[in-house]
Amino acid sequence: MRGVCEAELGGFLAALTKLGVFLKDFTRDRHVPNHLWTEWGYTADDMRGDRWLQALHPDDRVVVRARFADHETGKDPVSQSEYRVITKSGQTRWVLSKSVMISFTDDGTPDRMVGIDYDITDLKRVQADAQRARADAARLRREADMLRHASSVIAATLDRHQAVAKVLEFLRSMVPYVTATVGVLTGDSLEVVDCAGPVARSCAPGSIIRIDHVAPYARVIDERRSTLLSCPTDACPDLPATAAAESVAWIGVPLVAQDQVIGLLTAAADSCDRFTEQHHDLVRAMGDFVALAIQNANLYAEAREAATRDTLTGAFTRYWFEPYAEREIARARRDRDPLSIILFDLDNFKLVNDEFGHQAGDAVLRALTEEITRTLRMSDPLCRTGGEEFAILLPRADAQTALAIGSRVCEVARELGHDCIGGRAVTVSAGVATLGPGCASYETLMRAADTALYQSKHHGRDRVTAGC
Ligand code: GH3
Ligand code: MG
Ligand code: MG
Repeated sequence: MRGVCEAELGGFLAALTKLGVFLKDFTRDRHVPNHLWTEWGYTADDMRGDRWLQALHPDDRVVVRARFADHETGKDPVSQSEYRVITKSGQTRWVLSKSVMISFTDDGTPDRMVGIDYDITDLKRVQADAQRARADAARLRREADMLRHASSVIAATLDRHQAVAKVLEFLRSMVPYVTATVGVLTGDSLEVVDCAGPVARSCAPGSIIRIDHVAPYARVIDERRSTLLSCPTDACPDLPATAAAESVAWIGVPLVAQDQVIGLLTAAADSCDRFTEQHHDLVRAMGDFVALAIQNANLYAEAREAATRDTLTGAFTRYWFEPYAEREIARARRDRDPLSIILFDLDNFKLVNDEFGHQAGDAVLRALTEEITRTLRMSDPLCRTGGEEFAILLPRADAQTALAIGSRVCEVARELGHDCIGGRAVTVSAGVATLGPGCASYETLMRAADTALYQSKHHGRDRVTAGC
């Protein structure tokens, strides 16, 4: 600059270096470092030639070197890079560096360069934090969606095995387990309901495991607290011994319903550091669903059982019997198979109640049902149609066979004495109806059998009569 003396220029340059400006003179191999590099412990000598590259993080050196090669040949006259500098005291700082080639020698080699550096370490930290927060938020959103989806699917599943299988499938998409099991508690033992992955043979579905024989199980169930462990392979009950390394990761979650521990959910991985606390939280959340699903399925099974079986005698209910009989009738008609129905009614049962009391009457009903069921095939269901009246469906039985079975029912009743009524027997009267042109539906068959039963009563009881 015209009129500006050397000393003034020196002061000017010193001020610029405080703003982050640096100069590089390739021809004289001189470098004027800025205040950042000076504060980080580097001298002008450390910056000469390519030496300054030694201060960069090893992962950044190759890229920066390549960029500067283009810069120095003039191919890329203005350069901008971000890289990490390792300070002399060992800290890592992020730098945004912009530089311009001012001149080249006559033979095209670089002569002088000016640049400016910014310390962007804080900015990078904020960016990394924001990225992490975004990734965490996305993960939490995914997990929340998954849990919501899981809860709706599981809530709609009333079969215990199906619900548990679904839970294990959902869990797999969120937790990197190798094996997972769900067991229900019966006394001191755990019955494995379902499993996923190559579980040890002792944990296969249907296995019964004594809890006090397996330390991690006992711990989770006794303390009613979920646990994330890393344990020696041979102490992990779920993974087969061949599965892996010396130690494994294991999560156990107690399944609690109505304040009772009803089972255990486990997940295992073949490396001790595979599970994080986040995985632990997810297994715990799934544990709540499993407990709910098992409880729902149990309640549903109980309700079904109650609707299907008569509580006094254990015979099928009309609720179950009617649709079953209708299906069997439709099948028999389609296949042109014979099919019959027997109705029977206890004779003078009112007198039994009157003489010996209602409880004795109940005992007779129970004993008779049990004995008659014993004489029937599994495929011939016995139904308590009401009071002291019963029906038996006989698929594939023609009129003659049905009459023979009806006679046998009468015989069984006749020969069965009951202690509760002084060893006496209670006879039955029966009516038989067989599928045919006049009896082609459930209603007509039942009506015909009822008419035949009435005839048995009319003709002296303790007998069987054929209807249509
Ligand atoms: P019949 O030979 O004409 O069928 O005479 P019955 O006395 O058996 O017939 P009735 O219809 O007059 O009486 C049926 C009796 O069955 C009366 C009723 O108290 C009894 N009963 C129906 N259900 C039960 C039950 O669940 N337990 C007991 N103990 N008795 C029952
Ligand atoms: Mg009766
Ligand atoms: Mg009756």
